[in-house]
Amino acid sequence: AAVVVGIDGPSGTGKSSTSRAVAAKLGLRYLDTGAQYRAITWWMLANGIDVDDPAAVAAAAGKPDIVSGTDPAAPAITVDGADASGPIRTREVTAAVSAVSAVPAVRTRLTGLQRSIAAAAPVGIVVEGRDIGTTVLPDADLKIFLTASPEARAARRSGELKGKEAVGLAATAAALAKRDAADSGRSTSPLAKAADAVEVDTTELTLEQVIECVVTLIEE
Ligand code: C5P
Repeated sequence: AAVVVGIDGPSGTGKSSTSRAVAAKLGLRYLDTGAQYRAITWWMLANGIDVDDPAAVAAAAGKPDIVSGTDPAAPAITVDGADASGPIRTREVTAAVSAVSAVPAVRTRLTGLQRSIAAAAPVGIVVEGRDIGTTVLPDADLKIFLTASPEARAARRSGELKGKEAVGLAATAAALAKRDAADSGRSTSPLAKAADAVEVDTTELTLEQVIECVVTLIEE
């Protein structure tokens, strides 16, 4: 039977690297729901929607056509047919994504999309996000909640950004803390650990160790 795994947690905990590697190892599909929130945010910014105006964001929420690939070896995302994998990672999108994600119309639309993608994966799928275990896939076979100390998370994010956008560690830590507070504090499906999720603190673990840990939990 298809195995459905939800992996949640704040950014900088190794969610994406872990989810992709676990899916590749076990021959499962992979869905990055954060990329979908980023894609809709990118479209809003490109189309002059005021992302701080929830009514304007809600009115536009249904407009862009977002298509997510589910190959863990090459995760792809298109918006209205155009490849968006580069543009969704800019600092502008990162700064605006929490506000867009807090709008219920955006969440309803993307949650529906995520459920249909998961249901269409006959072998099973690893879905990563913030509310997969609590809201999107409450019946997942396994729910993982990744955590790490704020210092470890900022260091990892900063390492990822190096060369792309030179940002200091302190600025990265501040931006992360701001996004987490917004994601955890919103009223509709906030970043949260499901009651039946397994929490894995990755602070002292290498990526390989986290992958091994999740693979073991799936195989149990
Ligand atoms: O995972 P990533 O950092 O790319 O996610 C970007 C943003 O998308 C998060 O900060 C959050 O605002 C939003 N998000 C969400 N629900 C999810 C996944 C991401 O609200 N399931």
